[in-house]
Amino acid sequence: MPTEASAIEVRAVSKVFGAGQSAFTALDAVSIDIRANEFFTLLGPSGCGKTTLLRLIAGFEYPTDGEILLSGKDIALLPPYDRPVNTVFQSYALFPHLSVARNIGFGLEMQGRPKAEIAARVDEMLRLVHMEEMRNRRTSDISGGQQQRVALARALAPAPKVLLLDEPLSALDYKLRKEMQIELKRLQHETGITFIFVTHDQEEALTMSDRIAVMSRGRVLQVGSPQEIYDSPRVRFVADFIGEANFLDGRVVHNAAGQARLALPCGAEIDTILPDGMAPDGEVTAMIRPEHAEIVSDGGPCDLEGTLENVVYFGTDTHFHVRLKGGLPFVVRLQNGPSSATRLTPGTHVGVKIDEAAAKVLRD
Ligand code: ADP
Ligand code: MG
Repeated sequence: MPTEASAIEVRAVSKVFGAGQSAFTALDAVSIDIRANEFFTLLGPSGCGKTTLLRLIAGFEYPTDGEILLSGKDIALLPPYDRPVNTVFQSYALFPHLSVARNIGFGLEMQGRPKAEIAARVDEMLRLVHMEEMRNRRTSDISGGQQQRVALARALAPAPKVLLLDEPLSALDYKLRKEMQIELKRLQHETGITFIFVTHDQEEALTMSDRIAVMSRGRVLQVGSPQEIYDSPRVRFVADFIGEANFLDGRVVHNAAGQARLALPCGAEIDTILPDGMAPDGEVTAMIRPEHAEIVSDGGPCDLEGTLENVVYFGTDTHFHVRLKGGLPFVVRLQNGPSSATRLTPGTHVGVKIDEAAAKVLRD
């Protein structure tokens, strides 16, 4: 059976810091399989173990348990400099007194490569990150965005198989970050190097990644494409952490062929989609994205009823905050356009209609 080549296989890796009473499990039996040439993102809140996992892959730390394979070979005992892996740190860690070109060539100099080879490679990297004009500047005299490019070029110069990027854009302001996101995608595409990118920013993860691993408290909760993660989160944490979500608890009154009809506490019933292989018969929670529902204000057919509490205008879209009969909050998002009906006023009785196939039952 043909399988896609794995760049990195993380197999049941745990990392415990300290011992005895003060032992802390930073990673708890993490398994992920990162494909060659993939833009793979580790996404999760601060403290969930993202940096620890990168440090294990880079070889700055050793796993307490489990193994890490690179192109199918166990690299547990290889020191960092013998791994075909390079890291771009959040702080860039450039040498401020050296020129852009010297910074980029530094790793190659350390490896003792011939001068001519280093010069050619530095030229190539300068072109790749569009910094040819800046080659003789000191890195203390260039902007934050330019320093970021130099840090990237330096990490790419030794042609690693895998590039690890630990929140590399977090120090940049919003516009520059958007630019660098596109730049990073381009670099990954042009070099074909596997990128393992760390961020706590869900929007960044969604827009940049081929696949995302969502982490919480040292565990990987779900791995999938941005669309899979957003449209079909497995658990509540993932649904909540990525984008906005409405949650409705209900009792299954009927289920067949991957669908379930739920009775909600307010008396209404809605149709929901079940995850593969799940056939529940008790209480479950369904998730509905705000853009998969609409407001019905003219007494037309609807799934839920409530009172409009707040209308928030976001430029591109408008959010309607509804308090459902029974007390639960529910948000509906409407994209603004020439004919948008945003004239509803708070206090109005409204109905909410849910898109068919958009209510997804969670596994917990
Ligand atoms: P993230 O990068 O997702 O913010 P980290 O991987 O840096 O998270 O840290 C995960 C957890 O492990 C945190 O609670 C952190 O305090 C703890 N941790 C990280 N490194 C060490 C260490 N060397 N000693 C003890 N605890 C650590
Ligand atoms: Mg970190």
